[in-house]
Amino acid sequence: MRFQEKNKILIPDIKRKFDDSRKISDFPHLPHPLIKSPYSYSSELQQFLSGKRLLHDELPFPFSEIQEHYEQGHISYSYGVLNGLCYRCGNSAKSLMGTFQCARCQGTCMYCRKCIMMGRVSECTPLISWCGPELSYERNSNLLNWKGTLSKGQQQASDKVVQSVKERASVLVWAVCGAGKTEVLFDGIRAALTERQRVCIATPRTDVVLELSPRLQQVFPSTEIATLYGGSEDRTKNAPLTIATTHQLLRYYHAFDTIVIDEVDAFPYSMEPMLQHAANEARKEDGTIIYLSATPSKEMQRDVSRKNLPCVVIPARYHGKPLPVPTFEWCGNWRTSITKNKLPRNVSAWIARHYKENKPIFLFVPNIKLLEKIVEFLKMSYGEEVEGVHSKDKERKEKVARFREGTVRILVTTTILERGVTVSNVQVAVLGAEDTIFTESALVQIAGRAGRNAKFATGEVRLFHYGKTNEMVAARDHIKRMNYRAKHGGFLKGDRDE
Ligand SMILES: [Zn+2]
Ligand SMILES: [Zn+2]
Repeated sequence: MRFQEKNKILIPDIKRKFDDSRKISDFPHLPHPLIKSPYSYSSELQQFLSGKRLLHDELPFPFSEIQEHYEQGHISYSYGVLNGLCYRCGNSAKSLMGTFQCARCQGTCMYCRKCIMMGRVSECTPLISWCGPELSYERNSNLLNWKGTLSKGQQQASDKVVQSVKERASVLVWAVCGAGKTEVLFDGIRAALTERQRVCIATPRTDVVLELSPRLQQVFPSTEIATLYGGSEDRTKNAPLTIATTHQLLRYYHAFDTIVIDEVDAFPYSMEPMLQHAANEARKEDGTIIYLSATPSKEMQRDVSRKNLPCVVIPARYHGKPLPVPTFEWCGNWRTSITKNKLPRNVSAWIARHYKENKPIFLFVPNIKLLEKIVEFLKMSYGEEVEGVHSKDKERKEKVARFREGTVRILVTTTILERGVTVSNVQVAVLGAEDTIFTESALVQIAGRAGRNAKFATGEVRLFHYGKTNEMVAARDHIKRMNYRAKHGGFLKGDRDE
């Protein structure tokens, strides 16, 4: 699109009538008309656009209506791409910018390739946001419907979260796998909603969004929840509580008083400064971010030790039993064994032992190729009771479900299942733990699969290797350190025999 500036107002030149119209990126300053009262704005538009920053294509309203709200000071236009910087995702890497012959501005137009999956932002595309009266939500004091009790660690973290919401100061909740981090948020969310604030829980994985949404709806039955992920139907909804994938944050602008970022260390968030940028833009200027993680990155840990980021640690699981500590076992050159269609003898024996005892077995391997090979020859011994699951597997969900119900008893997987899957009494092994894919945090997450159920609070975690690595040692130390903190801080229950 091209614009012309007249009396400090941008006028779109849709029919290309003006000789002096330009791309929005060619204006050194963008005028923002002031609110002239009274103006009867469209409440549908307000409801749709509040707290968001969208492309024209994402708005199901005629441009004339948008323009009128702009001229009345209720909508603002900002740059999409300017001087090689994308205003939506913060990308400024030249290699991730492209140019094309643009029909809208009838010239060469630069666009951002980095966030293109959310629709194309280019030099002639304004980002449109609402700056009229804020949406208000009804005050509701009877919000929380939850009768459970928090463990000591959860209670401390919950208090810290409430404080963080009230004081608008960010915090890291460092909770071991199985600590029960969701419950830690309830009081904080209630505190925010009671003050009619907006809260967003963002997580890297769609699966988690789909799990969390019904759970929170149960806990907050009278609160409207928007559930957002690629392809979801709630895209138009503006609710006091939003549960979204981290990518969806790119659509928001100064929307949330509190953003909770779950699994802040998980791919792709940790890999993506873009999503860090998105979270910062999506919160209100004085909004707070609550980070949740079992394995915070080195950078985040450094911020904590330099006191740049307050942190609360939950060192024990909800059931108050210590975390299973991984043990190391050398298994020789296992890659050679696999080319001969077998596992190293001690690995086979480990599987056979737990199989005989009727315990579900989780076997982690470094990559898909190895996985397929291993599943193929394990099937010769164990038939349909063996399955393999990896990131490109379309039947992933079904197979995991069968593992949970017990028809699959040995599940071979890549790091794709390092998080999230909880199966009672599962025994965990890693084959080739020395592989670079098994970082400290991956191994801590993998070990975190075992012993999660109070009835089966122990479980073996065996790292089979062909040469111990620093990452393996760091993972074991990490877990031991948490157990030490848990024991000495009085977070464990019934540990007299320890
Ligand atoms: Zn971008
Ligand atoms: Zn263009």
